[in-house]
Amino acid sequence: EKVSLGNLMKEVLDESVLIDPKHHYILKNEEDDLLITGDSSMIKQAARILVDNAAKYTPEGGDILLRTGRNEKGHSFFLVQDEGIGISPDDTPHIFERFFRSDPARSRESGGTGLGLSIAKWIIDRHGGYFQVLSREGIGTRITVCFPS
Ligand code: ATP
Repeated sequence: EKVSLGNLMKEVLDESVLIDPKHHYILKNEEDDLLITGDSSMIKQAARILVDNAAKYTPEGGDILLRTGRNEKGHSFFLVQDEGIGISPDDTPHIFERFFRSDPARSRESGGTGLGLSIAKWIIDRHGGYFQVLSREGIGTRITVCFPS
């Protein structure tokens, strides 16, 4: 199945705006018709997990940016960027492990099991994709999902 990353992120954005009025959602599609091969409902689920996390760890009123494009290697990507609490360098290598939650996340009243990102990784691995994580504590987090094919 051909999946348009731009259309997919537009659908995720539209959902998020309805579900979560407490953040400001922005979408930038850098290229028209950025197509990959895969299962659109699974990839959308992975994108939703990233957006849910961005909302969960970003104070009210913060921006959440969704972007699609092509990286320097020519790989199609989508990314979710937030203005949240960030992830410490010690924790970053562990966020895709099942049931991992950082201390600030664990002590937050907002629920969560620590399974979301392990599920997203399972989906993206099966599509031959890979993640890039860029985060600064107190500044925000950007998680990029790239597809080589
Ligand atoms: P859930 O399973 O409901 O998604 P969760 O958010 O705790 O719960 P994961 O999605 O697997 O679980 O994320 C693992 C951990 O990575 C989180 O507990 C949090 O510590 C950290 N994390 C993930 N995304 C972000 C983000 N955007 N900003 C800050 N920390 C994050």
